[in-house]
Amino acid sequence: MADAISTHLAVQEEEIRFLTAEITRLRDEEIRVASPEVEKLKEENEKLKYRLLHLQRSLEAELQKGRLREGAELPREKAGEPGKATKQEKKPTETGKEEKPTEKSCLILIRPAYIDERLKIYEKLKSEHDALLAHRATQDGTVIKITLPDGKVVEGKSWKTTPYQIACGISQGLADNTVIAKVNGELWDLDRPLEGDTALELLKFDNEEAQAVYWHSSAHILGEAMEGYYGGCLCYGPPVENGFYYDMFLEDRGVSSNEFPSLESICKTIIKEKQPFERLEISKETLMEMFKYNKFKCRILNEKVNTPSTTVYRCGPLIDLCRGPHVRHTGKIKTFKIYKNSSTYWEGKADMETLQRIYGISFPDSKTMKEWEKFQEEARNRDHRKIGKEQELFFFHDLSPGSCFFLPRGAFIYNTLIDFIREEYHKRNFTEVASPNIYNSKLWETSGHWQHYSENMFSFEVEQEIFALKPMNCPGHCLMYDHRPRSWRELPIRFADFGVLHRNELSGALTGLTRVRRFQQDDAHIFCTMEQIEEEMKGCLDFLRTVYSVFGFSFQLHLSTRPEKFLGDVMIWDQAEKQLENSLNEFGEPWKLNSGDGAFYGPKIDIKIKDAIGRYHQCATIQLDFQLPIRFNLTYVGKDGEDKNRPVIIHRAILGSVERMIAILTENYGGKWPLWLSPCQVMVVPVGPSCDEYAQQVGNQFFDAGFLADVDLDPGCTLNKKIRNAQLAQYNFILVVGEKEKAINAVNVRTRDNKVHGETAVIVAIEKLRKLKNLRTKNAEEEF
Ligand SMILES: [Zn+2]
Ligand SMILES: [Zn+2]
Repeated sequence: MADAISTHLAVQEEEIRFLTAEITRLRDEEIRVASPEVEKLKEENEKLKYRLLHLQRSLEAELQKGRLREGAELPREKAGEPGKATKQEKKPTETGKEEKPTEKSCLILIRPAYIDERLKIYEKLKSEHDALLAHRATQDGTVIKITLPDGKVVEGKSWKTTPYQIACGISQGLADNTVIAKVNGELWDLDRPLEGDTALELLKFDNEEAQAVYWHSSAHILGEAMEGYYGGCLCYGPPVENGFYYDMFLEDRGVSSNEFPSLESICKTIIKEKQPFERLEISKETLMEMFKYNKFKCRILNEKVNTPSTTVYRCGPLIDLCRGPHVRHTGKIKTFKIYKNSSTYWEGKADMETLQRIYGISFPDSKTMKEWEKFQEEARNRDHRKIGKEQELFFFHDLSPGSCFFLPRGAFIYNTLIDFIREEYHKRNFTEVASPNIYNSKLWETSGHWQHYSENMFSFEVEQEIFALKPMNCPGHCLMYDHRPRSWRELPIRFADFGVLHRNELSGALTGLTRVRRFQQDDAHIFCTMEQIEEEMKGCLDFLRTVYSVFGFSFQLHLSTRPEKFLGDVMIWDQAEKQLENSLNEFGEPWKLNSGDGAFYGPKIDIKIKDAIGRYHQCATIQLDFQLPIRFNLTYVGKDGEDKNRPVIIHRAILGSVERMIAILTENYGGKWPLWLSPCQVMVVPVGPSCDEYAQQVGNQFFDAGFLADVDLDPGCTLNKKIRNAQLAQYNFILVVGEKEKAINAVNVRTRDNKVHGETAVIVAIEKLRKLKNLRTKNAEEEF
């Protein structure tokens, strides 16, 4: 019996292996011609995949029920969890015999077999390439003109002269400090010979593009260390806003921060060795052979490389598929730090392999590194997760990842922000609506979310139909607009909605309130005519200026215009962009153009706010949409009586997600909330027990006047300690009451920053605070 079962299982396993191999083959095989049919099939496939996922989930649920009924302990089905299914995938096509990495306690560098095989292919090709270059330099080398930014012209020889040589000709200091060259507008390795007449720029670290090159080069160092330490398969290693990272596939192994010192010390050795970055162009076919041990690099080759050949870069034993360019050698990296790790999925897709991501940062001098570390420290102290805990604002629970629990104080901030926006809505003729949270997938098909966004949506089956939680309010608002015929007289219609939204962010990507699954927005959709765009934009811009100036944020404006791939009529785009431009010009704040950066369905204005420690955050967006009205066939009756006119939709939000705005505000204020937003506004402190009753009475008066007021009646605490505690808890105002104050119905006012305003009548103090609160004064403590 047991034999029969095991044979049966073996056969099944073989089948699974075959099917997995087939799937991998099909997935990795490049479809070179992206015909509309293929695109359509792909889209269809996405939908089917999603439905399959639902079926699997419900099947699993059914099986679970069955098991419970039988009470038997059967082994868990493997098909259950979609996110993990591929983890069990074997590598049937692989010929490499790399071993599964095991835990290492000390710094033993392994040398996976693929390193030597890769090097062998590389070295052969490299010597051929060098010979060819030498030949070109002697045969085809001509005198070329190299023009520097100041207009000076230097002579050089094609296929021979390098940007580095030119830099040395100017000064050794310049040559040493240059990170990367720019040749005729294209980033270019410093040691790569020039090929013809050149406009040459030499970029230092202070240049943003150079910084990216510097950090990207540092990622190669990290990648080299990771190969030597873990032996897994490297994936992507790009520069990011704060340094760089490298992703590696390590099967089921994880990365621990305890390993950072070992990795860092390998990196330091690599830096000390001053390994040159060598560039080599290789045919795709050879590259497939070279990277056959790494299915991820093969996928990149198949899916991302559209040319017959591409480049690899070598530093030390690492040869990496990369377009470059890089710094000259690893020694250019002066300080190097690994600071974070996380896990992620291949290309961020939850049904793909789990990857380990390691983050690093590097600088050309240790002073900048120290400054960076200090800034990180400052940011850590302001971290909203830390302050949220200290001030008892909110928390998260494993039983609902990414959905925040706002405690009373946090909920006060939440609601106060919404009330603020609501007040502005009233002044600006926005009308608030309330709309459903769940919709039949048919709605999402109409809006296009199902085709493009379904992976980010929570969906489930109800009575054999698939429903999903809304990730956005717009489709629902379209139904509301379309509820009855509309006339030009009604436009613009401004629907505002604080509805709860859900987006299925990867659990690994969830970070405090900045990346959540459940959130609310100060979302509104304006349905207007083409002619009304300009006026509406002016209104939106004025709205955001009002809100941001209350918070004390300065901001940057960017206009993003028609991209290469767009839908709709060019005339309509031009007309709309002209109106956006006019509204921006009239607004009077400086703005920049991001040409071609608009969404395919309309141009937009992006707004970035700057916080107290100089970080920029994107919160507000004002996005025009010509497509959604078409998808929902929205019309209005024009002045001519025809019901064929198309409205335009303006999506806009100013806070953006309320959750995220609370994170930004917490960090911006460092927990020192302005009076109107503060969940700890007033603390009454009696001098001694004989004043307790009076203190309580004063506390009640402030509470009845609408303030969040507390009274400290702790008998075990001295007066000074009570004041100190209230200041540390960031109570804006601390009201001390003794016999003297009691006698004349007064309080002695001081602030959390220990500014003493002195004796004030209770009624006067309440009136002053009420005024400061209603005006949303930024610095009520000073202005009292
Ligand atoms: Zn690179
Ligand atoms: Zn919208």
